[in-house]
Amino acid sequence: MKGICVLGSTGSIGVSTLDVAGRHPDRYRVVALTANHNIDRLFEQCQRFRPPYAVMIDEPPAAELRRRLRDAGIETEVLSGVRALEAVCVLPEVDSVMAAIVGAAGLLPTLAAARAGKTVLLANKEALVMSGPLFMSAVRESGADLLPIDSEHNAIFQCMPANYHAGRTAPEVRRILLTASGGPFLRKGLGELHDVTPAEAVAHPNWVMGRKISVDSATMMNKGLELIEACLLFNAPPELVQVVIHPQSVIHSMVDYVDGTVLAQMGNPDMRIPIAHAMAWPERFDSGAEPLDLFAVKRLDFEAPDFQRFPCLQRAYDAVRAGGTMPAILNAANELAVASFLDGGIRFTDIPDVISHCMMSVPVGRADSIETVLEADRSARETAGAYIRKL
Ligand code: NDP
Repeated sequence: MKGICVLGSTGSIGVSTLDVAGRHPDRYRVVALTANHNIDRLFEQCQRFRPPYAVMIDEPPAAELRRRLRDAGIETEVLSGVRALEAVCVLPEVDSVMAAIVGAAGLLPTLAAARAGKTVLLANKEALVMSGPLFMSAVRESGADLLPIDSEHNAIFQCMPANYHAGRTAPEVRRILLTASGGPFLRKGLGELHDVTPAEAVAHPNWVMGRKISVDSATMMNKGLELIEACLLFNAPPELVQVVIHPQSVIHSMVDYVDGTVLAQMGNPDMRIPIAHAMAWPERFDSGAEPLDLFAVKRLDFEAPDFQRFPCLQRAYDAVRAGGTMPAILNAANELAVASFLDGGIRFTDIPDVISHCMMSVPVGRADSIETVLEADRSARETAGAYIRKL
């Protein structure tokens, strides 16, 4: 029996993780659940899974949750504050941590889990993008198992040589083929992108996800973050990672070997598949996902990405080549720009401009300590905020 802590349990990945955990009560015991604002959903999850701990970021919602749980006779201890996220990750009874907080807020607890040698199930790609080599050396030094949850990286991991561990070089791999659906605006006229609304941007054709990652998919910054993530997880230079548009989202990514073999991982677009893979690894168990019906899929299409339509993807290649704190700057600028777009503050087409401005203006340093990474993040947010106010 393994103990799991689910960071961001009330979000899209968190809910799918608990769905999988609920199918395997003989294999997983839920030790801690965390949320930002969503008291109702966290209460329901505590009712169902009875974890010893729950965390909310601010004290007033934590106090409200505490009251409701006490009234319902549930003995979950409710903690509050960002440090409490780190505290529940490193509990001795926690074996695995699902890192499913969205954005930079997930960095410190995910890093704490890696440093403590926990099995890290990594959905929160922003944490890895920001802290890059620092995060990977924490994994190496503690001996933690790092298992990717992003469907593409999970697919690549599954196609890697037997007994592969994240962070190692695989010399027999010639290319990593990172697939992308192209998002909701793959075929939209370039001139029309100026006027797209947040509701249109979050309506992904194949996946149901949180709002931030849905906008990232529409700009293809999601693929850009995934490119950086792939370089780190598979210790590969960006030249080795080729982005392939595959609108059906049935192949989740591929690995091309030196002998000409290309291995692909396929499945329905259901995040419970990579989640169950990582939770059962190195074994397999039921995810609850429907079997893939190839006769319904009928065809698989592939095309090259258009960097003019998706400038964010180009910025990500630029950032990974620049290295140091540049990926953290790109990530912070993107988070601020996306939040502003979702609030109606800027246009969809302003998002890459905000990112480019920050990448040109914020000084880049070595990402060799958590302080330098957080300083790059802070400085990029400040610069992005000032730029957005002038738009
Ligand atoms: P959601 O927005 O659905 O959920 C985010 C979770 O994080 C919620 O539990 C939220 O709590 C919590 N949270 C938000 N802000 C904070 C904060 N400042 N401090 C602490 N907790 C916070 O996101 P997703 O589940 O879609 O995505 C989570 C991560 O997984 C992202 O990094 C995303 O890129 C990645 N990912 C997601 C995929 C998907 O299919 N959704 C696929 C691959 C990767 P509350 O509900 O209370 O606001």
